[in-house]
Parts: sequence; C-alpha cells; structure tokens
Amino acid sequence: MLDDKMQIAIETLKRSGVRITPQRHAVLEYLLTSMEHPTADDIYKALETKFPNISVATVYNNLRILREIGLVKELTYGDESSRFDSNMHEHYHIICETCGKIEDFHYPPLDEIEVLAEKVSGFDISHHRMELYGKCKECSETKVQ
Ligand SMILES: [Zn+2]
Ligand SMILES: [Zn+2]
Repeated sequence: MLDDKMQIAIETLKRSGVRITPQRHAVLEYLLTSMEHPTADDIYKALETKFPNISVATVYNNLRILREIGLVKELTYGDESSRFDSNMHEHYHIICETCGKIEDFHYPPLDEIEVLAEKVSGFDISHHRMELYGKCKECSETKVQ
C-alpha cells in the first residue's frame, strides 16, 4: 500500500523534474505513512536521528516543493503551526480542541455550496474548507483529576 503510494509520488517527482534527495524521500515517506497531519516540526523531530544534518528549514523547503507539485496539502491555521496532509482526495477534518489531533472525515464534497456561493456573491469560488471541532475519544476518556 505504502509502496504503491510512494511509487506514484516518486513518478510525480520525476515528471516534475524534482531531484529526489534522501531527505526529500524521507519527508515524503513520513507524510505518506502518517495519518496525523504533522507539522514541519513533527517531521523534523521524527527525522533528525536518521539525518543529523536536517533542519526545520530543510523540512519546510521540502514541504514547499511537495506542495507545489501537488503531493501535499498545507492546512494553515493563521500561525506557524501549518499541518501537512498527503491525502489529496477531497476530504474534511475533525479537530480535537483538547489535544489538537486532526483526523480525516470522509463526506461527499459539498459542491452545491460552492455553486450557491458563486450565484449569490458573484465570486469565482476556488474551494472551500470545513472543519469540525470537538473532543476526541481519548481526551473524552481522560478524567480530569
Ligand atoms: Zn484529543
Ligand atoms: Zn486529512
């Protein structure tokens, strides 16, 4: 499963003329394996033992390239804590307000809202974003002492 996804991603890199460095490969592999929507810092921490020369800036740079060629989506939250998602299929997110965990939520894309928004606003709508907030299972089970 991961091998397939990795193979497809590598093909995309090659087609885009992007050099596949060991660090870039590792960042991509981490993203394809992780369902956690990691931050650049999470990825950096996960890779620093294997790549002692890696820096957060390198990770960011790699993420930017991967985003530009459409392998990764960036979820911005108005601060430096962007999260990265390698699931490029249209999906929504559920976010835990207590621990910050982000899970995928599959629901048919609400295309009709875009059509309606274009009609009433005259905007040329490019996309929309919906997030659901609450308390995850683990956090709900943790009793406050
Ligand atoms: Zn939680
Ligand atoms: Zn996601």
